[in-house]
Amino acid sequence: MLGLRGVTVSYGSLVAVSDVDLAVGDGEVVALLGPSGCGKSTLLRAVAGLVPASGSVTWDGSDLAGVPVHRRGFGLVFQDGQLFPHRDVAGNVAFGLRMHGVDREARRKRVDELLELVGLAGYQRRRVTELSGGEQQRVALARALAPRPRLVLLDEPLSALDRALREQLAVDLARLLREAGATALVVTHDHDEAFTLADRVAVMRAGRIVQVGPPGEVWRSPVDVETARFLGCGKVLGAERALSVFRGSSVFGVGARVGLRASALRVDPGGAVVAEVLERVHRRDHVRLLVVVEGDEFEAVAPVASAPEVGDRVRLAVDPDGVAVIG
Ligand code: ADP
Repeated sequence: MLGLRGVTVSYGSLVAVSDVDLAVGDGEVVALLGPSGCGKSTLLRAVAGLVPASGSVTWDGSDLAGVPVHRRGFGLVFQDGQLFPHRDVAGNVAFGLRMHGVDREARRKRVDELLELVGLAGYQRRRVTELSGGEQQRVALARALAPRPRLVLLDEPLSALDRALREQLAVDLARLLREAGATALVVTHDHDEAFTLADRVAVMRAGRIVQVGPPGEVWRSPVDVETARFLGCGKVLGAERALSVFRGSSVFGVGARVGLRASALRVDPGGAVVAEVLERVHRRDHVRLLVVVEGDEFEAVAPVASAPEVGDRVRLAVDPDGVAVIG
């Protein structure tokens, strides 16, 4: 188990990570999620031993302060793979095994196993420079997992890939980490990715962890307004206003503020809320609307096939999955 207590990292006068406590249990995948520059990579690097930190980083209770990077038994995967261009796929995956003095036959077996796991069986002799970005990241993951690290640290492992591939690989990566039984800490600025990958999500802002919990909990009850906005709630309302606008819809708790994502309001002829359409724009699989309800502007969604026009009056239903209760 990884334990962080009061971890603080400064670059000169800039405090990049401030007083972070976090535990990652065996076999658990935790995502560090937050906007660019909030200190995620720095925290990951402190865990790896790549930057000096105050506070304590422990493994199963023993302090890693004096332990250099290569002795921590951690596997690292970076955004751009950082494969060795002059080695073939097998040579890359076997790298850590060779460092650990694993003999040739055992290396070959382990490489075959890992390539199978990441869906690249038969790629042993391929040059890494001839692989697609997604394939390169799979090789990087296989290389990190090969020596059976006690912890895998992944820093934005998918962000160099294009969107469609990223979504697919996030699902694959989640499955791979589970199949390998890996304990992992993964940095991402993308909440979809964090929620796909992680058992628990640690939301970071300005060097601090502001909330830790299972994806569903963080999604439904962000700890504060800034976190709600970061998690896609374009509109934040007081409970009373929400109740009055949305006619007492039962999804709104009493007293708490609520955050609404665009998907919270759906065009539905049976809906209780009457709205007027101000703007519309096509997204991948739906139409995004800007509507006005009782003088207040909201985002809403409609199916592509039956999307209303600007100026139309529509009825909206509230979808609880798009609503966050804050605090
Ligand atoms: P994130 O991973 O969330 O994007 P980083 O950990 O990379 O954030 O950066 C946190 C803060 O520390 C930022 O303000 C960044 O500019 C600063 N920073 C990161 N690396 C260095 C460095 N090597 N030297 C000085 N400042 C740095």
